[in-house]
Amino acid sequence: MEQRDNASAIDRPDTDLATGTWSRMLAGNRRFSQGEAEHPWQDEESREQLIDGQHPFATVLSCSDSRVPPEIVFDQGLGDLFTIRTAGEILDEAVVASLEFSVQALHVNLIVVMGHEHCGAVESAIQGLKLGKAEDSDSIVVRQVGASVLAAQDSDLDTTDDYERVHVARTIEQLVDRSSILRDAVASEQIMIVGARYLLTTGKVEVLSF
Ligand SMILES: [Zn+2]
Repeated sequence: MEQRDNASAIDRPDTDLATGTWSRMLAGNRRFSQGEAEHPWQDEESREQLIDGQHPFATVLSCSDSRVPPEIVFDQGLGDLFTIRTAGEILDEAVVASLEFSVQALHVNLIVVMGHEHCGAVESAIQGLKLGKAEDSDSIVVRQVGASVLAAQDSDLDTTDDYERVHVARTIEQLVDRSSILRDAVASEQIMIVGARYLLTTGKVEVLSF
């Protein structure tokens, strides 16, 4: 396995700009999807360099689906990504607080909200909506993701792919709506929040623009 030059954990590529951070992650995803993953920063030396602290450059909120681990699909290593994962990337207080922590205490400059193709949470929301109103469901997945499915349908979108994309867009909207810390960080350009959707069929990350 080819290793990167692990001379120093501090001596990393310049990721001061969020766009640079995002380019670095997308480059990692290209390597992964092309079968050329480098598996960087996963050796003993990297682990030891990180004992006294972490300086992740980005936060990823993604689905918990076992087929979508951010570190693997973006070909990153120890100390690179601060990750939060829930079924269907749904939000609650703990998720929002974790995202705020990554901005305030770890100074990440990029938050990636990532859904994916064939998401079981989206499928479960579609099934749940057949049983009744989203807001009446006992399941937080059906309530949150179901509301995204309905919003997509209101915009005349009717494929599961579109529901997955709209759910990412709505999740980002709700994040900045719920958190003044994130809202202020976006407004002052301290961070950028981007939407993405991972494709199981190709291994590629689709960049979403809203
Ligand atoms: Zn999923």
